[in-house]
Amino acid sequence: MSVPSDPHLPDTRKGPFAFETACVATPGSEKPEASISTQSRLRAVTAVAHHYGTELDHLEFRSDRNEIVPSPASLVAWVRGAGLWAKATRVRWRQLLRLEEGAPVVLLLANGGAALLTGRNLEKGVAFIANPLTPEQAPIAVDELRLSQVWQGDVLLIRRERRTTLDEAPFSFSWLMQLVLRERRNLREVLVASLSMSVLQILPPFLTMAAIDRVMTHHTLSTLALISLMLVLVTGYETLLGYARREIVEVMSTRLDARINVHVFRRLLALPVEFFERTPTGETTHKISQIFKIRDFLTGKLVSTILDVFTLLILLPFLFWMSTALAWMVLAASFCIGLTVLWFLPAIRQVYAQLIAAEVKKGSLLVETVHGMRTVKSLAIEETRKQEWDERVAESGHARLAAGRIANWAQTVTTPLERFVDRGVLMCGAYIVLVAPAGTTGITTGSLIAFMMLGGRVASPLIGLAKLTQDIEEVRTSISQVSEVLNHPTETAATRGGLRPKFSGQITFDDVSFRYPGSQALALNRVNFSIPAGTMLGLVGRSGSGKSTIARLLQGINRDYSGRLKIDGSDLREINLTHLRRSFGVVMQDNFLFRGTVRENIIAGRPGLTLDDVVQAARMSGAEEFIERLPHGYETWIEEGSANLSGGQRQRLAIARALIVNPRLLILDEATSALDPESEALVNANLLRIAKDRTMVIVSHRLSSLVDCDQILVMDKGAAIDVGPHDELLERCAIYRQLWQQQNRHSERSRQTQLKSIAAGE
Ligand code: ATP
Ligand code: MG
Repeated sequence: MSVPSDPHLPDTRKGPFAFETACVATPGSEKPEASISTQSRLRAVTAVAHHYGTELDHLEFRSDRNEIVPSPASLVAWVRGAGLWAKATRVRWRQLLRLEEGAPVVLLLANGGAALLTGRNLEKGVAFIANPLTPEQAPIAVDELRLSQVWQGDVLLIRRERRTTLDEAPFSFSWLMQLVLRERRNLREVLVASLSMSVLQILPPFLTMAAIDRVMTHHTLSTLALISLMLVLVTGYETLLGYARREIVEVMSTRLDARINVHVFRRLLALPVEFFERTPTGETTHKISQIFKIRDFLTGKLVSTILDVFTLLILLPFLFWMSTALAWMVLAASFCIGLTVLWFLPAIRQVYAQLIAAEVKKGSLLVETVHGMRTVKSLAIEETRKQEWDERVAESGHARLAAGRIANWAQTVTTPLERFVDRGVLMCGAYIVLVAPAGTTGITTGSLIAFMMLGGRVASPLIGLAKLTQDIEEVRTSISQVSEVLNHPTETAATRGGLRPKFSGQITFDDVSFRYPGSQALALNRVNFSIPAGTMLGLVGRSGSGKSTIARLLQGINRDYSGRLKIDGSDLREINLTHLRRSFGVVMQDNFLFRGTVRENIIAGRPGLTLDDVVQAARMSGAEEFIERLPHGYETWIEEGSANLSGGQRQRLAIARALIVNPRLLILDEATSALDPESEALVNANLLRIAKDRTMVIVSHRLSSLVDCDQILVMDKGAAIDVGPHDELLERCAIYRQLWQQQNRHSERSRQTQLKSIAAGE
């Protein structure tokens, strides 16, 4: 195929051809120019992301593999990280021309470079290709043959993220049912297998009937042999079908389990920090664990009861065919059992709710105690805790016993009815056989036994159906527990949409007020200040004056403030939350380290970082010195709760963890408070180096460490009292002067004594 000559299309066959430049190196070249190829791939991706309103910075691309050029997988991960949908795939020329019109597509070229498909002309059979490195040049038209020399079909498709509605919908019973119905194909297979098994179930009773009526009465051995053979065949078939059914159900429930697990964790991660601050951990975990009860019900009892009901529908006509009177008896007994179960339902519902509530309370006490064991021991309050635990155990014991008793009563009332279905019906049947004149009822000894065999199978689904309502009741309680956690408003909208500007780091608080939910007093009261990009702001004030609240607002942890909070002129609430938090490095007073090595903790799961980055970050934070003394250096294992590290060491690791991504904005909230004077001096000395090219907000009670800040903001009872450099504040701000003097009284006094002694000496 060749390009039809068209005066409007750039001629691709003569002159210095821009297309080859777009391909970076011509095909067949041994070693592609890695850096140009990399640039071309990254720029192509950023151009498409830009098309969808997302700004990606090619300098921020990191790949965790040893790649010469970015692989499709790392590019996909990069794009997805920015909240877009991406997929690397292989398409043919025809498919390429039919890809969504109007949006650019990244073509991954064979030599490692990339090109942008900006348009296509189906009639002429050409694609318009642009070089991502020279966006100002017009795209050129290329035909299949030409493109195939450099492109083997690899494309990177990028679109706006479109989640399925099921991911967003609130958690409920119908939500779960939809999840189950996604397994339609498997369900159908299970259904077919079960129906065949139900049909097969009819055969053995009939064969038994024949065996008794014919073989016993007429002593025909050949019929017995035939019946035996049929029974063996039926048994074999039943065994195989049973195996297949169990296998499918197993696969289905495993898949369902995986889906539920993935979904629950994703939802949990999307919940705001505020939720976890206000809900005890034990309560959250216990409520979440209820979901597995629901799963067991969905894949166990629900499926089996529904299948049994199908069996019932098939068997019922046969029962009526054998004996109408007996069939009615079975139905009536089953109906009574069902009614009894329903009658007990309200009581069961009530008791079960109490049981769950008691279990939640018990569970949260357990988690809380395990979590705070160090404090429990150091306060020596084991006895109090034990008493509290005993009370909770007793409470849940009472509830469990009450629930068990009600279930026992229900069982007791239904037992005679259940027995009637087999024993009573047998007696009635026998009576009918004996009393009725021969041939009028159509019941023989054989058919009575066959009826007995089938009768039980009819009664059990009916009873199961009634009991199902009881289980549904329990599941409903569990669902409300789970939804209390999962249906809490998430931050998802804020982490998906919003602006993703490249920050230079100017922060403005304009009349910002904030009150914590449920609290009376304002935590921030009309705060105004502004930090130019690349400068250092110190935050001082008494305990509870609102310093950490400022840090929380900046990170978007609390978002319902009034007033305007801007970063580089963009309203904070319009900025994509994930982007915002990734741009901030945050070190708090109490830092959580994950189980893993020192290196893993500093990298903290962020892709594309190497040991070199780790070492550099550790050096900057002053952590290098102690890490090197650890038994395995950067590979030293940190236990849960970082028990094998001192407070100061933990803080230095946290500083390194924040610095490793080279954030534009850095918040240190009491980050150096646990350091000894020597390490603090080390970090402070580094602080100026760390501060280079970034905006820093440093909260500290030790004013001496803030002296070098460009500005210091003095907070008091939620209000910003004054802002300015140290010297100015010392002169004009009474609170600051007071704080300064309190902290430097000792040195001030010694200075005065020194002066006095010098004066006396003179
Ligand atoms: P400190 O120096 O002790 O760390 P701070 O200046 O950082 O104090 P903030 O943590 O900002 O003080 O707290 C300001 C006010 O908000 C305090 O009165 C505190 O009781 C309240 N507060 C802080 N966090 C919460 C929260 N999660 N929920 C409710 N109220 C809170
Ligand atoms: Mg604080």
